Amino acid sequence: MAAKCKFCGNEIFWMKDGRKNVPHELDGGKHSCEEMQKAIKSTVSMSPSSLSPEEIAKYEAQINAAANKAKKQSVE
Ligand SMILES: [Zn+2]
Repeated sequence: MAAKCKFCGNEIFWMKDGRKNVPHELDGGKHSCEEMQKAIKSTVSMSPSSLSPEEIAKYEAQINAAANKAKKQSVE
């Protein structure tokens, strides 16, 4: 599924890795950008030991939703 990274805006596509969707570069490598790392780090730092990868993914989705909302508001 082609998409844009919500964090850096680069073109990526989502691939299922187990139960988790993982962003990949168009050339096939795993996508990881500084913006995304920062976002993940900031969620993980809330409670590093108690978060499972699924929970982190959930937080990431929430960050994405919040980012989309902010983007929308700034456009309108
Ligand atoms: Zn990115």
